[in-house]
Amino acid sequence: MELRRLDIILTYNCTGCCAHCCYRAWPEQGGTMTVAEVAGYLEALNGQPLEGILLFGGEPFLCYDLLRESIQLAASLVPQVHVFTNGYGPPIRLPLDSC
Ligand code: SF4
Repeated sequence: MELRRLDIILTYNCTGCCAHCCYRAWPEQGGTMTVAEVAGYLEALNGQPLEGILLFGGEPFLCYDLLRESIQLAASLVPQVHVFTNGYGPPIRLPLDSC
């Protein structure tokens, strides 16, 4: 079996608390991955013809450092990296080199 897309739930923490949430995400729900775990999954899929990776949650901007590192790891493997956000993440101060 060949995998072309990979979706990674970085965290179940969310700024929302929606009754319809299929991920049962809410504030302080927990279940946040580590960079080592993300790297491990990506390494395990090395050799697959992945075309894109989706990073989401919960609200992935709640674990901004993990999100940034995961984007970098994913972008080294695939041409398309997507991030789903509910748009209600915490304020983020971007480093100057990203502007
Ligand atoms: S992940 Fe989406 S649906 Fe679930 S609680 Fe957060 S905003 Fe709501």
